[in-house]
Amino acid sequence: MDSSEHPVARFGLDPARAAWAEEVRAIARERLRPLATEMFDDPGAKARAGTGASPGTGAEGGAEARAGAGTGGSGGLAVTSTMAPSAPSAPSVPARAPGRVNRALLAGLADAGLIARALPAGRPPSALDLCVLRESLARECTEAETALALQGLGAHPLLHAPAIAARWLPEVAAGRAVAAFALSEEAAGSDAGALRLAAEPDGPGRWRLTGEKCWISNAPEADVYTVFARTRPGAGARGVTAFAVPADRPGLSGEPLDMLSPHPIGRLDFDGVPVGTDDLLGEEAHGFRVAMGTLDLFRPSVGAFAVGMAQAALDAAVAHAGERTAFGGPLKDLQAVSHPLAETATRVEAARLLVYAAAAAYDAGAPDVTARAAMAKLYATETAQFAVDTAVQIHGARALRRGHLLEHLYREVRAPRIYEGASEVQRTIIARELYR
Ligand SMILES: Cc1cc2nc3c(=O)[nH]c(=O)nc-3n(C[C@H](O)[C@H](O)[C@H](O)COP(=O)(O)OP(=O)(O)OC[C@H]3O[C@@H](n4cnc5c(N)ncnc54)[C@H](O)[C@@H]3O)c2cc1C
Repeated sequence: MDSSEHPVARFGLDPARAAWAEEVRAIARERLRPLATEMFDDPGAKARAGTGASPGTGAEGGAEARAGAGTGGSGGLAVTSTMAPSAPSAPSVPARAPGRVNRALLAGLADAGLIARALPAGRPPSALDLCVLRESLARECTEAETALALQGLGAHPLLHAPAIAARWLPEVAAGRAVAAFALSEEAAGSDAGALRLAAEPDGPGRWRLTGEKCWISNAPEADVYTVFARTRPGAGARGVTAFAVPADRPGLSGEPLDMLSPHPIGRLDFDGVPVGTDDLLGEEAHGFRVAMGTLDLFRPSVGAFAVGMAQAALDAAVAHAGERTAFGGPLKDLQAVSHPLAETATRVEAARLLVYAAAAAYDAGAPDVTARAAMAKLYATETAQFAVDTAVQIHGARALRRGHLLEHLYREVRAPRIYEGASEVQRTIIARELYR
């Protein structure tokens, strides 16, 4: 690629990708957010939602009106509806019961062609495309962002086995099958090479999986799991093998976990689950490479998710500080408010540049991609935490009301500093690369 066309050299996205980012944001706002915030099986949520506001238009209806009051009480003081005039964006009242995969949202993502862009047929996606998708979706609808990212994370390892990829990828891209990536265990999180799920020999080319996996996004509702198991006891990371395990395999069960993060997460129990060479993703004992290769691709895009959330929080804080008056003027005229806004804007821009530089480096096969990806994930996820916390502070009490955009982002923003390599692990990687 001519360096003048290089997205990083130009310090911005090329015009086609920039236009596409806007298109994805519009799809997320207009088509996906209603699917994420529609309430299907929670009548209580309907009551909490109040009336009069169409989904996806928070500024008209008011985040707080839909999230809280609006129904009269039968004793004590009458309960009145309160509006949030400066609500910047729709609230994220949860769709369905917590812990359930929102298949309508997945179908919406597929109809818009977005999952296919994250999982192009027969080849790995561009890291830059993945970042554009994840940042654009996160700015408008984190539920859609995470649903898409998990399809990619769960299904990307399937590319290591053409027959398995041919069986599952079209279904995953169409939103008809749900994928999940099952690496972590209670005793092996950051230290994933110490995983214990046992793949015990059960005849030539056959194994039985026995053990557990924990904190697996989309479990136990996924249709296909990428499962990392130990075929060689005592061999550390070199004894790990990756398998594709369909949900209907005998001996596989699981349960949802009630976590702070809004998306579905669960644990999996393997009671002698049969697998064979037909289920292998890559070669036996090469599974850790499959896992790390997938995480290398996805790491910058976790940063893009964080940048999207940080930008949404910043936009909300800028709007609120411009409108809200106290002590005779808008909040923005108080330096104690404007300086944190300036600091946030600067950090968000720096995070975005790190993220897109890392993604471009990945796509170009650059030798320093490991350090760049770690820096991008570290800086962007820490920045998002700072941005959301700052925006909450500037909003005051209203931000903490259930259903407010910032209340939702406050729950969303915490986990990315832990999963796919905690911030401390990223620092360890960066430091190691300095001495390589
Ligand atoms: C919302 C959510 C979704 C998840 N989804 C998935 C999923 O889909 N699939 C999956 O496989 N896993 C998933 N996980 C699990 C996640 O990958 C692990 O939580 C993560 O790897 C950290 O492991 P741990 O929680 O056991 O923390 P530990 O490994 O116990 O680490 C705890 C803390 O110790 C410190 N620490 C640990 N190791 C080091 C080190 N080498 N250097 C410096 N400090 C260190 C860090 O501060 C770290 O946060 C998810 C987790 C969450 C919260």
